[in-house]
Amino acid sequence: AVFAGGSVAALAEVWNEVQRAAGGMSRIGELLQESPGIVAPAQPKSLPEPLRGEIALEHVDFHYPMRPDAPALEDFNLHIRPGETVALVGPSGAGKSTVLSLLLRFHDPQQGRIAIDGVDVRDCDPTALRERIALVPQQPTLFAASARENIRYGRLEASDTEVEAAARSAEAHEFLSALPKGYEEELGERGVRLSGGQQQRIAIARALLKDAPLLLLDEATSALDAQSERAVQHALENLMRGRTTLVIAHRLATVLKADRIVVMDKGRIVAEGTHEALLAQDGLYAELARLQFLD
Ligand code: ADP
Ligand code: MG
Repeated sequence: AVFAGGSVAALAEVWNEVQRAAGGMSRIGELLQESPGIVAPAQPKSLPEPLRGEIALEHVDFHYPMRPDAPALEDFNLHIRPGETVALVGPSGAGKSTVLSLLLRFHDPQQGRIAIDGVDVRDCDPTALRERIALVPQQPTLFAASARENIRYGRLEASDTEVEAAARSAEAHEFLSALPKGYEEELGERGVRLSGGQQQRIAIARALLKDAPLLLLDEATSALDAQSERAVQHALENLMRGRTTLVIAHRLATVLKADRIVVMDKGRIVAEGTHEALLAQDGLYAELARLQFLD
């Protein structure tokens, strides 16, 4: 199973899923059942170093294992150029998060191909693949540990100085320093309560530390106050710089910053272009924009 590989990123994803899930334990079981086919190939191909950061999904058909009659993605085609920022928008259930989980190879498509720098992800070692991808999930997981260790989780061998530099770029330094015990303050369920925007900045700091060439971002849907929104936006700009980024966008500011906007509905791409061009079409995009992309 994928999680037996000892990948910290994979474990984190399980934790995220668990936190999201209504019935925690049953969801773990589901996840493990869902990923039985994901194994490291006997002779894995290595991804180029440095990675150019090109992503390609070609004619991808995917349904979740237990739901063969409900395709999550159908003939899905998306090419992302090295360094490009693509914003995915679409109503709830469109398949946006599924695209991210296929890129991380939590599942394999039934048809089609997913490649990074031309290498089919099925030919890569899943752990090696996930080392090149930073994921900022919609609901970041905070562990019962100090703020410092929560950030260091992005790269376990990072020094305290590197942790603090990442926190500064992620606009987290100020609020962390203001805590009674500063970076030593315990986070997690029994620790200090952080706002949604602050939790996201911890996740952004982790991703900055990880310094992976590919960035997958699932923006938080919860409304942030204006000050927090500005801080998160600024932190994201620092994080996205110089990386190929695929972002599930819920904020107009993020959509406007993207090089290209891809509109999804029912597992397919239904429109693509710039904000102005898509608004002018007065279709699903215009409708979503009126709703501020909240799905
Ligand atoms: P979005 O992120 O755009 O809201 P998702 O990618 O989460 O959409 O979901 C696409 C479709 O796949 C939906 O119909 C959803 O119900 C289904 N789906 C998502 N995750 C799972 C899962 N773990 N098991 C079964 N079906 C799922
Ligand atoms: Mg989603």
